[in-house]
Formats: sequence, C-alpha cells, structure tokens
Amino acid sequence: MDPDRIPAEFPAPSFRGAQEHALQDINDAFAAGNDVVLVRAPTGSGKSLLARSIMGAARSVEAAEPRESTGAYYTTPQVSQLDDVATDDLLDDLNVIRGKSNYACVLPGEHDTPVDRAPCARQRGFDCSIQHRCPYFSDRSIASSRRFAAMTLAYFMQTAGSEVFGTRDVVVIDEAHGLAEWAEMYATIELTPDRVPVWEDVGVPDVSGESGGHGGSREGGGSRNGDGDGNPDHAPLDRTARFVEQLRDACERAKDELVGRPELEPAEVARRDRLQELIGELGWFLEDYRDPRSPTTWVVDQPGGEGTAITIKPLDPARYLKHTVWDRGNRFALLSATILSKEAFCRGVGLDPADVALVDVEHTFPLENRPLYDVTQGKMTYEHRAETIPRIADLVVRLMARHPDEKGLIHAHSYAIAEQLVDRLRDRGVAPRMRSHTKATRDDELEVWKASDDPEVFVSVKMEEALDLRDDLCRWQVICKAPYLNTNDSRVARRLEEGQWAWYHRAALRTVIQACGRVVRAPDDHGTTYLADDSLLDLFDRARADTPPWFADQVAAMRTPDLPAADPSAALSGVNATPSPTAAAAPEEAVDAETETPTATGDASTDGAAEDGNTESASTNRNSEPGTTSGGARSTSTGGGGGAETRSERDAKRRNDHPLSDVWGDG
Ligand code: SF4
Repeated sequence: MDPDRIPAEFPAPSFRGAQEHALQDINDAFAAGNDVVLVRAPTGSGKSLLARSIMGAARSVEAAEPRESTGAYYTTPQVSQLDDVATDDLLDDLNVIRGKSNYACVLPGEHDTPVDRAPCARQRGFDCSIQHRCPYFSDRSIASSRRFAAMTLAYFMQTAGSEVFGTRDVVVIDEAHGLAEWAEMYATIELTPDRVPVWEDVGVPDVSGESGGHGGSREGGGSRNGDGDGNPDHAPLDRTARFVEQLRDACERAKDELVGRPELEPAEVARRDRLQELIGELGWFLEDYRDPRSPTTWVVDQPGGEGTAITIKPLDPARYLKHTVWDRGNRFALLSATILSKEAFCRGVGLDPADVALVDVEHTFPLENRPLYDVTQGKMTYEHRAETIPRIADLVVRLMARHPDEKGLIHAHSYAIAEQLVDRLRDRGVAPRMRSHTKATRDDELEVWKASDDPEVFVSVKMEEALDLRDDLCRWQVICKAPYLNTNDSRVARRLEEGQWAWYHRAALRTVIQACGRVVRAPDDHGTTYLADDSLLDLFDRARADTPPWFADQVAAMRTPDLPAADPSAALSGVNATPSPTAAAAPEEAVDAETETPTATGDASTDGAAEDGNTESASTNRNSEPGTTSGGARSTSTGGGGGAETRSERDAKRRNDHPLSDVWGDG
C-alpha cells in the first residue's frame, strides 16, 4: 500500500465537508505503520468515497513482486449499502459480486432457477457450455480478476480460504461497528429440525443435563478427548461436543449418499448443500473447542431439553475473524459512525489496540438540522410498559398534529410493542395515517411507505440501521424504547455476569445514534428525533464517556418541545381521512396482556433489558416476535377503534378483494 496516494484517489470532482482533512489523517495513520485504521465517520461524511480513496492506495499488479498481494476488497454487512455502491457512478470500478442465490441460471428452461439450484449444482459432472455467459460466474470472474472487488460481509467470510478470492493488499470494511456481533452470528451453530437435515435420524440428547435451560460455557478450549475436565460447568459443552461428533458422522453419511447419485432434484441439492455447510460448521466447532490454545469461549443453549433445538455460540470469536477477515489482507480500514470505544472494539474483534489507529471525521451537519427532543413518557421496561404505551400513543397523536404534512417513523423496538402501539393509535382514531409491518411484510411495507406521497406514519421494528431517509422521505421519528440487548441471550447474560455493563450501554447507545442518523442524510437535510422512554436519558448518562463529541452536542442541545393537544382531527389533517367515531372512547386498560406474556409454546422469548436492575421478560428479539402473525397484516381491528384500518390493513384487504388476487398471491 502506498498511503500517500489516498487523497489523490478520491473519486469525486471535489471534496465536501471534512473529507479532505479526513483523507489526510487516514494517510498519516497508515504512513505511521498502522496496519488497521478505524475511521469514525458520521452519517453523511461520504464513507463510500473515503473507502474508494483508501482502496486506491492498494499495491497494483504492475508494482508488485510475484508473491505480493495486490488490489483491494470493499465489504459491508449491509446489503442496502452494497446496493448503493453498485449504483453509484463514482464507484463504478468497484466490481460487485453477490451470493449465488441472487443470480438466475441462463440455460433454456432454467431462467427461474437460482444459480445455487441450477443444473451445474444438481448434476454430478455437469459441464455447462455457456458458463462464460452465466451472470454469476462472469461477475465472479470479473470481481476476482480486477483491482477492486465489492461484496457483503457474509459472502466475504464465506469465501475465506478460497483460491478465487485470496489475500489482497487492502481491505475496507464499511459499517464495521457490528463486526464482532456479525462474526458471532455467522459463527453460531443452530441445531434445529429445520437446519439439520438428518434430525430425525439422530437422537438429540439433553446436553444441559437439566430439564432445559442454558447450558454451560467454556473458555480457552476444552478437553481434547471430550470426556470432560471435572468442572461441572463444562459438562454441558462436553456432552454437546460428543453429540456434535455423532451428528457430523451422520451428516457425512447422508451427504456421501447424495453426492454418489448421478442427478439430484432441486430439494436434494438444497439438502446436500446444507449438509456440506453443517459438516463444516460442526467441524469448526469441534476443532476450536478441543484446541486448548483457542481464545474462544463457547456457550450452549437448549431451553427445551432432550429432543429439542440446541444453539452453540462463540463469545468474542477472535479466531473466527482471524481466518475469515484478518488473514485476507495486509492493511485494513474499518469505517463506521458508531465505533464508540476503540479499545473495546479492538478487544471484541481480536485486535491489539496498540496496533490500531483511530481517525475521527468531523460532523459537518448543522446542529439545528438534527435536533433531539425530550418527550419522555415513562419507562418502557416490562413492568411499566402497560402504563407507558398509552402515553406514547397520545404523544404520537400530538406529534402527528405537529407534523401534519410530514412522514414520520416510529421505532417500536419489538413486534409486541409495535402491535400494542398500533392498537392504541387505532383506539385514538388515527389508523388511517398509520402503516406497520410484520416480519413477513417488512420489506414490502417499507418500500410502500417510502414511495408514498402521503404523510404516512410508519410503526417499525429493527429499522434503526441501513435506512437512508433523505429529505421528505422522513422528517421526524420517535424512539419508543431504549434499545438494550436481549438479556435472555446467553451471550448477553454471560457478559453481564462478568460485569460488562459498559459494553451493554455502549451497544444500546450505538443503536440510538444509528437511529438518529436515519433522517438527516446531508448538510442541507433536516430531521427531528423524539425520545419517548425515560431510560434513554439514563442511557445517555451511563454511556457519556463513550459518546462521540458530535452526538454529545446533540444531547446537550436537547429540549422539551411545546406540543399541540392530542387531537385526532389535527393528526389526520394532512391525509384525506377523518378520525374513527369511537376514538374518544379509547379504553386505556386495553393493553393486551396476552401479547406481553410468554406463551406455552415458547414463542415469546424475552428481550430482557436490565435497565435499573430490572429484567424485562416478554418483549421480543430478532428471532422471535410474540403476538405477531407471520402471514401479513391484520384484516380486522381490535380494541375500541371501531374497525378503523391502518394503511397496511387497507392495502392487504384491497389485494385480497381484487379479482386477480388468486393469480397474484398476497405479496
Ligand atoms: S453455469 Fe450454466 S448451469 Fe450453472 S447457473 Fe450458470 S448458466 Fe446455469
């Protein structure tokens, strides 16, 4: 790498804001001998352009000795970010490659077949005569042979060790703040009936040795023979390792049987591929677990006991990152607005902070364009939620009246909260301006909301990141709950047992900062963020030491606004609708305890937030959303709203009533 080339490689005709200064700082950091540079760049600083400049300093083929690495990778965990890169004219020399399932086969009769299910994947020894024209293989060939390749972090990690995508001189990881969590997620092994093709052929033991619950954990590798080391805390993992060994053998046998057949049906291709993937995952766990030098701590969960799903998770998967990321390049630039603590970030991803430089990019958006407002209504911990949600519903009606002609976004944190909030808003007669989503309709509803010319208010779940809501796409948003991690996740619980409260608060603050960045995307853009949960103020206090200065300025400038009354007519004045006639009779006691209470089926896993030492017990996490149907929007209202429909429900009904709905399906 030649760091001095970094500023000159900037792809735009001119610099904006703090870009020139930032590139000089990055140049200096690499020139000082740092192999890894963290670039803390706020929203709107043009991270992709900074990334391209850094990549441009990679060693070229012409300047390289035969065995030296050349070129650069760009990778990001966010698909939407890669989509932006792919369509940016300034970044047209980044050659994008995606996973096989994103491409369709081009053989006659196979045009609807994704590449990972195509004849070349189904038939042993299939020699495709048009592979040179195949969209996947040609994109792969271009990306692997040109100077710059761009891909998602998932694809990047999957191609670790491949000859096609070997080591390069420079690797840029965009939106890198969640690298440790992404690595943990990719490295987590889920043994469930859906994920284990031979589930029925193996007896799944009770690895916890109890009647369900969290299993054990082990640091620094386990015993080599898997017989246990006498520590009762390690027995669940030893039992897990023994079961994993049997399972791997069963998978090997099943895979060998499929591989021996001359041709496979598409379903058999999927089974074969999953077996191969699972064999690799199980082998990696066994190898790492039995390596006494491994720094990985493993935890195992089996809430249902014998015969039920097992989740094996690594904590701080430094070894996984070494193989999949750190061995893939000579120099690394990690970009994000929310790497809050250099030391903690480095520890989490297996880097020595002494070898890593941090470059802070100034925030150049005017403070008045990104205001925070304190509109707190109480606590949103599980114990207090029943009283607080109706108050937040009133608040949202007042904010709708304050912003009658502007789109708004409500961050509900979980599907349970979203559902209750929508019901309370329906009770208040403002459903005709509301849109919401389920897990199944998430992407479709988001696109419809963004495309709408009406000032719709969108009740969302987990949309704090990877959304570009520039200008009139959204002018105001509400954060309903401090976004603490799920304390029932064994990794979170384990860290809190170790007293890692700073990490816990940092993770929540990071999500808040990410959320605030959704609605202000350029220096001349503006968007308002309202904070509804008391615990958010407490979070700002607790995480003060890790707060970037530009966000600390926002917090310091926070005010309490004068809001209009909760008048449904005023809230709907920007859309062609009138409030439901029963709006005034909205029953506050109607918070539906059923959606808040874990069900007998175990569907309601909890997202305990340990604010104030309390443990929440029935919100949701990304894997499980109680009280939420997966099959589209509700078609009838509940509570006292008298049948008022949200826009999502109205749209679903129109689709269902349409004479061609049988042909179209519903989404
Ligand atoms: S290589 Fe040939 S068979 Fe395989 S996906 Fe491409 S076009 Fe289809």
